[in-house]
Amino acid sequence: MFHRPSTLTEALELKSRLKDKGVFLAGGTDLVVGVAKGRLAVEHWIDLSGVPGLSYVREEREELAIGPLATHAMLERSAFAPALAQAARTVGGPAIRNRGTIAGNLGTASPAGDVSVALLALDATLTLVRSQGSRAVPIRDFFVGPGKTRIAPDEMIQEVRIRRPADSAFLKLGKRQSVAIALVSAAAVRQSDGRVAIALGSVAPVPLRAAQTEAHLAIAGLAPDAIREAAGLVSAEVKPIDDHRASADYRRALSGVLVRRLLEQLAAASSNHESAAPV
Ligand SMILES: Cc1cc2nc3c(=O)[nH]c(=O)nc-3n(C[C@H](O)[C@H](O)[C@H](O)COP(=O)(O)OP(=O)(O)OC[C@H]3O[C@@H](n4cnc5c(N)ncnc54)[C@H](O)[C@@H]3O)c2cc1C
Repeated sequence: MFHRPSTLTEALELKSRLKDKGVFLAGGTDLVVGVAKGRLAVEHWIDLSGVPGLSYVREEREELAIGPLATHAMLERSAFAPALAQAARTVGGPAIRNRGTIAGNLGTASPAGDVSVALLALDATLTLVRSQGSRAVPIRDFFVGPGKTRIAPDEMIQEVRIRRPADSAFLKLGKRQSVAIALVSAAAVRQSDGRVAIALGSVAPVPLRAAQTEAHLAIAGLAPDAIREAAGLVSAEVKPIDDHRASADYRRALSGVLVRRLLEQLAAASSNHESAAPV
C-alpha cells in the first residue's frame, strides 16, 4: 500500500502504527532498485515527498543543518565542508544525485555510502524523531552493520548537523570515474583545535573511523614522516573483504594511498593558512 502523508505528524503516526512494515521512501534510488531486483519487499510505502520543509541545507553560524530530503545535488553545491560536497559529487551520475538524499544514504547503511563516510569523519549528529519526541545520535553510534542502523522501528531521520571544520577532503576510487561504487573511499577532517579525523568506506561492514591512525596523528601531527606512518597504520587498521570489485589486499593498500593523499592536502592547506596569517 502506498501512503503519501502531507505533514510530519502524519508521517510519524503512520510509522508508529506500521513499525517495520512501513518503509520511508525518499528519493527511491536504493529502495526502488532493491524491490525491482527482488532483494527487498515493501508492504507499506511511506512517501515523504508530500511533507513540506524536509529539503534544506542551511548554515546556522558555525553549523550546517541538513534536512533529510536534501539531495546530493544540493550537498555538492555547499562550500561549508569540502569533504561533504566532494563526497556528494561522486555519488552515481547527475540523475541519481538529483533524486538521492542524505537520509537515504544514511538509512541504506551501505559500507560504501559516500556521503555517510564524509559525515562520519565530520562527526555529524543525527536527530531521530518519533511521534513522542526526538533524540540526538552521534553518527559514530549510528551504523550497526550492512543495512542496519540504530533507527528504531517508529523513528525517522529528521535532521543532520555538522560543525564547520577547519579543513576537510574526500577521495574515492571506483572502477570508473562516474556511476561507480567505491572500491575504497576516505575522508579526512581537521577541526579548528587541530584534531584530525579519518573515515573510510568499503573497508569494513560499516563506514569505519580509523581510531588508531587518528591517535597517531594527534601525537605526531601532519609532518611528512607522520603522514607516511599514518598511511601504513591505516592499511593495517581497515578490515576489508575480497569481493567481485577488488581483493582485500588491494583495498588495504589503496586505503593507505588515499589517506596519505588526503593528509598531504590537509598539511599543505594548513601551512598555506599559517604563512598567510598576519604577523
Ligand atoms: C545507479 C546508481 C548509482 C549509485 N551510486 C552511488 C554512489 O556512487 N555512492 C553512494 O553512496 N550511493 C550510490 N547509490 C545509492 C543511492 O543513490 C544513495 O544511497 C542515495 O543516497 C539513497 O537515497 P534515496 O533518497 O534514494 O533513498 P531511498 O531509496 O528512498 O531510501 C533508502 C533507505 O533509507 C531509508 N530512509 C530514507 N529516508 C529516511 C528518513 N528520513 N528516515 C529514516 N530512513 C529513511 C529508506 O526507508 C530506505 O531504507 C547509487 C544508486 C544507483 C541506483
